[in-house]
Amino acid sequence: MYEVFADMHIHIGRSENNKPIKITAARSLNFANIAKECVNRKGINIAGIIDCASPYVIEDIENFLKNGEAYEIKDGGIIYKDKLCIILGSEIETSETNEDGKTGSAHNLCYFPSLKDIKAFSTEMSKHIKNITLSSQRADISAYELIDIVKKCNGILVPAHAFTPHKSFYGNCTQRLERIFKEKYKDIPAIELGLSSDTSYADKISELSTKTFLTNSDAHSLPKIAREYNKLQLEDISFKEFVKALKNEDGRKILANYGMDPKLGKYNRTYCEICKKNIPGDAPVTVCDSCDSRNITMGVYDRVEMIKDKKDTKSPEFRPEYVYQIPLTFVPGLGGKTIEKLLDTFDTEMNILHKLSYDDIEAAMGEKVASNIVAAREGKMNITAGGGGVYGKITKE
Ligand SMILES: [Zn+2]
Ligand SMILES: [Zn+2]
Repeated sequence: MYEVFADMHIHIGRSENNKPIKITAARSLNFANIAKECVNRKGINIAGIIDCASPYVIEDIENFLKNGEAYEIKDGGIIYKDKLCIILGSEIETSETNEDGKTGSAHNLCYFPSLKDIKAFSTEMSKHIKNITLSSQRADISAYELIDIVKKCNGILVPAHAFTPHKSFYGNCTQRLERIFKEKYKDIPAIELGLSSDTSYADKISELSTKTFLTNSDAHSLPKIAREYNKLQLEDISFKEFVKALKNEDGRKILANYGMDPKLGKYNRTYCEICKKNIPGDAPVTVCDSCDSRNITMGVYDRVEMIKDKKDTKSPEFRPEYVYQIPLTFVPGLGGKTIEKLLDTFDTEMNILHKLSYDDIEAAMGEKVASNIVAAREGKMNITAGGGGVYGKITKE
């Protein structure tokens, strides 16, 4: 067994021939560039690219396999430069009705072992989605139906950013996943926490005590890959091994979740859409203290406090450690040029955030950069919580 790093939620901005896939994502974010970035810059060994059901992306994958640097393996996944296993995935928005009869929508991460499987999935889903070429489109079915299609194509389903206010199960569809998935709930091996929550939040909900937690970047640009990631213990890099880790089978497991402080996320606390500010107060905040408006965007922290059914946040035995990390782009005083130089000097962001000593960084980059990175690493920064779609902010103590 050995340790590998995985980021399982990476978007594609444009296809190689410049067709839009995820309109809000960067143009440079295409299949080949993601593979290179993971190997050269990020030190990621398993990458879940979740816009692979788009026929334009499928074309790119076919070309990528033709040029000889990458190949599919029997256990599932595409191996690139013998260092990276790319898992083909698709993010699907499902249409749900909650316990009060209100409609909501939720994002689902669907992962597949082979190109053949995701092609079959793409064909099937084009019956349920208006524009299959675009990312994260809304399907006319619920997740209860979607999971059957995913299984038929040999895939697995993981609820995405499970608590975010607009597009998630707990955020706006239900208080319990079991009500959505019913007898199929056991077929869900994991949930994705999302940037605005961490393990301690999710462990307040008892039905999650049997599920694995994933921390992924949801990257819309190359630099944001691996702002959250997972450390896994596996025998090899493949789809099959990844699924075993999610299920805690045969010694395969998640060893650690590396994530941002949830306060840095865009939806941590409740935000007033009239006053355009986070609303202070003890969670759950559901009404604005200044203007009394209920026109709010619910914070993830507030939502969890509202729907939790456990008083303590005691984690189940198998739950790995959640390691807080502050991505370089959030560290005060680090501009694009400085980050570029850091990466050129020290290879990967992971290396810089977790391994290098103060002296190593100082020798190459000077005292100010070194002290900021080390202060961020040691949690010696003040964080103002994010909300309403605006990231949290960091100031040095
Ligand atoms: Zn999403
Ligand atoms: Zn207000």
